[in-house]
Amino acid sequence: MPEQTARAVGLRRRLEEMERLYRETGHYGGIDRLTLKEQDPFRYEKVYAELRGALVSARETALHISASPIVRNIGELCFAFYTPEGDSVAVSTGIITHVHTMSEAIKFMIRNDYDQDPGIAEGDIFCNNDPDLGNVHTTDVHTIIPVFWEGEMIGWAGGVAHQVDIGASTPGHDPIATANRFEDGFYVTAEKIGERDAVRKDFKVRASRSVRTPLYWDLDEKCRLAGVYMIRDAVHRIIREEGLDYFLRFMREAIEEGRQIFLARVRERLVPGVYRTASFEDAPYAGKAWHPEQNQDRMMHAPMTITIGADGSFFLDMEGASAPGPFPFNASEGSMQGALWVLITQTLIYDGKVNDGSYLAAGHHFPRGTWCNAADPTLAYGSPWGFLIPAFTGMFRCLSRGYFARGYREEIVCGYGFTGDPTQGGGILRATGQYFPVSNFELCSVGLGARGTMDGLDAAYAMWNPEADMGDAEVWETIESGLLYLSRRIKPDTAGYGRYRGGSGWEALRLVHGVTGMELYSFRDGAVFHGGAGLFGGYPNATGYRLFLRRTNFAEVVRERRPYPLGDADPARRELDTALRGEVHRSPHALILPQTFGDDDLWLCVFSGGPGYGDPLERTPAEVCADVAGNVYLPRTAENVFGVVVRPDAAGEWRVDEAATERRRAALRADRRARSVDYATFWERERRKLLEGRIADVVRRMYRESMSGSARWAEEFRAFWQLPDGWMP
Ligand code: MN
Repeated sequence: MPEQTARAVGLRRRLEEMERLYRETGHYGGIDRLTLKEQDPFRYEKVYAELRGALVSARETALHISASPIVRNIGELCFAFYTPEGDSVAVSTGIITHVHTMSEAIKFMIRNDYDQDPGIAEGDIFCNNDPDLGNVHTTDVHTIIPVFWEGEMIGWAGGVAHQVDIGASTPGHDPIATANRFEDGFYVTAEKIGERDAVRKDFKVRASRSVRTPLYWDLDEKCRLAGVYMIRDAVHRIIREEGLDYFLRFMREAIEEGRQIFLARVRERLVPGVYRTASFEDAPYAGKAWHPEQNQDRMMHAPMTITIGADGSFFLDMEGASAPGPFPFNASEGSMQGALWVLITQTLIYDGKVNDGSYLAAGHHFPRGTWCNAADPTLAYGSPWGFLIPAFTGMFRCLSRGYFARGYREEIVCGYGFTGDPTQGGGILRATGQYFPVSNFELCSVGLGARGTMDGLDAAYAMWNPEADMGDAEVWETIESGLLYLSRRIKPDTAGYGRYRGGSGWEALRLVHGVTGMELYSFRDGAVFHGGAGLFGGYPNATGYRLFLRRTNFAEVVRERRPYPLGDADPARRELDTALRGEVHRSPHALILPQTFGDDDLWLCVFSGGPGYGDPLERTPAEVCADVAGNVYLPRTAENVFGVVVRPDAAGEWRVDEAATERRRAALRADRRARSVDYATFWERERRKLLEGRIADVVRRMYRESMSGSARWAEEFRAFWQLPDGWMP
């Protein structure tokens, strides 16, 4: 068959056959023995390394084509290679959450007989960003090409990049004000957008008119295309060297090996049993929302049960999750699967073959009709991360208890900071009259939770991208031209307390300058600890809050050469309000919908720390003293929480007052004993609250959603608290 007419036919039949083989044999593709690996392990590993190397170098090279700081500097893109049926074989570095979401998009095309209409031929280009097909949010745009060899379809290469703007009802990449699909922006639902290796002109025209930043769209698309073509070339090279039969068998063995590695790791690292936890997130829209139906405070409930079998089986269940709604935090099942996948690759199989084998091995249940599997394409899916990130802290807590039980203390991770508070919006520069986007992504570096043997990483972690990077302030300023940086620094008291503390969060202070007008908005946890508690006596990290100043005398302060403020290190000291005059807006709710700002307004971003591990009274005084010296904790926090009294010496160096510390720790322990109650008393007290209806409205609504959505969960809740039949909060 000549190359130009080569077509993929019967893909749906092949996919169904692969699914049948897995169902019936329990092995991917029915492969129970890794014969290629057994016969010549060096050749097998060499081919895997070549493929993996090709994906990594495609990413490293292609990102330079993009102009967006989110892609170019932070590396919010990734590439993967898939079997003809859409299972990932190997992945690049980067935002690898999307390796599995692209798999879902490919399978959507296969299940809908795309090989018949619109056809899948050599040189075709497909694009997808529809969350209802498996993507996370419209901002994540997939470019997917079929790869052929001598007329036969042998796989797919895919690349994904996170856009600066996707044409939603508000500017930015994670819209917060949206209430339905029709505000999510530019939708491309698994469309064929090109043939013969060229994107069609009509699609380019449509795309350029559908987003606020067409230049970034265009260059990001070229970046993804360059990457997938590099991958196609590399696969052709491997096939020339190894032969087609070898490569086809290799792909399937690699996935089955990925599955087996996962089972072996689970057996090795975890104790069989049932692990349970819950996570929450606040969405305080009351009084803020633009839509009547959105104008209500809500809370997300993410109960999580992980069952580990003696055979290495793994099952994650979120029965009882709260409802979807008119907010942008609804998640598709595919995005939950992507998140499950990306965390597994960081905590269980980081040294193995990372591919969809691990996805197959990780059983899961995201109940349909809840926020985590909303299954309704008319809902808004602009920022599923808002609920998904908190929910999956539960997985780290559950697995860490298993690692502890097995004695793998060094594998423990208590959780992670909330990668939230993305400053977004846009404005018009006075000097040029030009639009500039504010589409910040420095939230990609928050605190990691404490480990079982050491503190968490400071300002260096994102759960969805194992290569976290906050990017250079100067680079952000090149696009966010009307929003200058006054500072970036470690934010005291954001790290969760513990024997090992969570990684610290940080703050950035921005100045609105040289604009005729702009709008800004943001979101993160405010009233609720997004990641639950820490582990084994460790504390949660601090929640976020909102602080900005309007109509300040900043220009006057600069003219008079007086020092200007650098942030809000100690909220009690009110550094911003005392250094400047202006309207101060301070709220415990970090969520803010777009508002207008003008010159000399100041905007603070507060990035999350991670949760802590173990009793803070067991942290060594020397470590706490170093924390104070490093601005991780304020001196009064060292004293009130850790019981460590520190004072500056004559040279201004922080020193531990040993005697005062001993007294303070003894007093804190005595206070704890005095306030402690036994479990039965605690249980009875909490039960009484339920029976007497002493529950905040927002919490009542959340539990009602969980109980009316799941009879199983409702029964369990009533049984645990010994509540009357049919009881509802
Ligand atoms: Mn994204």
